[in-house]
Amino acid sequence: RPPRSTLFPYTRSSDLGELLRGMPPKKKEEEKPRVILGRPTNHVKAGVVGMPNVGKSTTFNIMCKMSVPAENFPFCTIDPTEARVEVPDPKWRKLCDMWKPKNEVPAYLTIFDIAGLVKGAADGEGLGNAFLSHISATDAIFHVVRTFEETADGDMATHVEDSVDPVRDLEIIRDELRLKDVAALEKLIEPLEKEVKRDGKAKEKKDRLEIMNKILEFVKEKEARFGAWSTKEIEVLNECCLLTSKTALHLVNMSEKDFLRKKNKWLPKLKAWIDENRPGESMIPYSAALEARLVDMEPAERAAYCEEQKCASQMDKIVCTGYHTLQLVHFYTAGADEVKCWTIREGWTAPKAAGTIHTDFERGFIKAEVYNYDDWKAQLTETDDGRAGPIAETAVKESGKYRQEGKNYVVKDGDVIFFKFNVTTDKKK
Ligand code: GDP
Repeated sequence: RPPRSTLFPYTRSSDLGELLRGMPPKKKEEEKPRVILGRPTNHVKAGVVGMPNVGKSTTFNIMCKMSVPAENFPFCTIDPTEARVEVPDPKWRKLCDMWKPKNEVPAYLTIFDIAGLVKGAADGEGLGNAFLSHISATDAIFHVVRTFEETADGDMATHVEDSVDPVRDLEIIRDELRLKDVAALEKLIEPLEKEVKRDGKAKEKKDRLEIMNKILEFVKEKEARFGAWSTKEIEVLNECCLLTSKTALHLVNMSEKDFLRKKNKWLPKLKAWIDENRPGESMIPYSAALEARLVDMEPAERAAYCEEQKCASQMDKIVCTGYHTLQLVHFYTAGADEVKCWTIREGWTAPKAAGTIHTDFERGFIKAEVYNYDDWKAQLTETDDGRAGPIAETAVKESGKYRQEGKNYVVKDGDVIFFKFNVTTDKKK
């Protein structure tokens, strides 16, 4: 018997159980992991997209309530269409608890509210066209679809397409984003074609044009991220910032009743559609109406309610999964002044990781002093006065697990790093 899911304890099919836990589907043996397009930095952004009346605003408002107060970001203006939420990370939390630093800086995910898209948005239908360009500024997409018939107030919510069909909705939005990419590519190709005609010898431009035409043909049929691209093609793709390059996390908004009874006829259909059309991407069933109530409750009240209803909030999972679908890893800097969580792509070397802190760190990189969180945690003797962190660090040093790494070191998830760099010589250059 498959293990019981805490969220959907009555699920018998292991496949469905897995899907309902929001886990990405199992990769087939022969499948190579897909290269994730785009270049997320330490500031990861996601946009909430979907048809009108599917629960996007409700979801976005919950994220606003979860978000970190604006005074924590004195040097940036935060737009009302932006919510900045903490990415829950138990390792970072533990480091903070044991170091008791003056400053605690978690990883954040910035979420953008993007107006409802309708059929024809790519041609300027509805508000869609302007907002499609907002999506291009994000790293990932939270694609909200609706399986509920009635709204939370008991009204039959109007759906722009006059019926509830989340699979059709996914297809409409996918095609709008794809068409917008086709238009964007055609706009880039036109002047390039002229330039190549004028100067037939410009090999670099000719190659670029060839790649762009290849991408264009592909995007006329499929989403850019599902192509098998060469390194050179990926470079061009990343410059184009296509909407269909962005990884999607599918948020399946259910009625509260369906969410609690863990059932809805669309779930298997959605899962099949995603596996077929967007292999490797995940879906998370939730109920925005329920989450909207939970977010307003005091923690004790919320815990009691969840216990009684045998349910759990899915919002942290949505944030975490959204963040980590981008193949991101965390490393930390830890000390008495500050414990900070940094985000990089899997596979980055130490100097590149150092560059997320400051470009000087990358240019003047000398070495990285590294230990892994797990080795540090193994040495913890829990004293609660802010000395446990440094004591464990000393113990890691004595145990020989504190390493000096050079420029080829690939940073691992959970590394705690102290970078040594030299900017003065660099500046003299
Ligand atoms: P948007 O147009 O996609 O931003 O959708 P809204 O967030 O404004 O929601 C549209 C309607 O659906 C509102 O009347 C909401 O109260 C209702 N609604 C949103 N989420 C849920 C849900 O999870 N369950 C139910 N039953 N109704 C919901």
